[in-house]
Amino acid sequence: MKHKMVVMMGGQGAGKGTFSKMLMARGDYTYIETGAILRTAPADSDIGRMVARGELVPDNMLIKLMAEKINYCTGDIILDGFPRTQSQAQWLVEHYAGKWDIHIIYLDVPNEVLLHRINKRFHEGSCHRTDDSDTAIIQRRLNAFYTQTKPAIEWLHTAPGIKFATIDATGEPDTTLPHILDALN
Ligand code: AMP
Repeated sequence: MKHKMVVMMGGQGAGKGTFSKMLMARGDYTYIETGAILRTAPADSDIGRMVARGELVPDNMLIKLMAEKINYCTGDIILDGFPRTQSQAQWLVEHYAGKWDIHIIYLDVPNEVLLHRINKRFHEGSCHRTDDSDTAIIQRRLNAFYTQTKPAIEWLHTAPGIKFATIDATGEPDTTLPHILDALN
């Protein structure tokens, strides 16, 4: 039987990190979170500047990074923050659908709820991400989601051999989690 590759997709604040952690508490997954990896780049590097501005880092850099991470994995994996563009999505399916059972979990949350959650995360969280602090940067990240990631999600929805679930993640995490678990079974 193939191992699972759970791909968390959704706008900033949709709950990708929250549900990844809930799944990890229930199973043995390798967790790969691209945003956290990219935020370790020095602030004065190209990647550091792009992340600070809320721009997507070029596909070739992400693909190289992900190949290095995924190729070491042999079990179940959760991807949080990848893919974010159609090229990244196509690369993932082309290279890994043969080896893993790919489950796309699209966390569908209205824009105004995403904005509210990002704002709350900044004010209540213990680590203040600079890219969560500035309205123009938040808007740029959400725009990247609507213009680049949404088309990738739509493409994945019709890609053969991929399991795809749209999950309404507007409510409380405990109410949403059973729907994600159902989709993965
Ligand atoms: P996140 O924590 O997932 O919101 O990601 C923070 C930032 O990392 C994003 O605003 C992008 O600058 C960069 N990033 C994360 N994942 C990707 C990706 N798959 N492709 C391009 N840039 C990414």
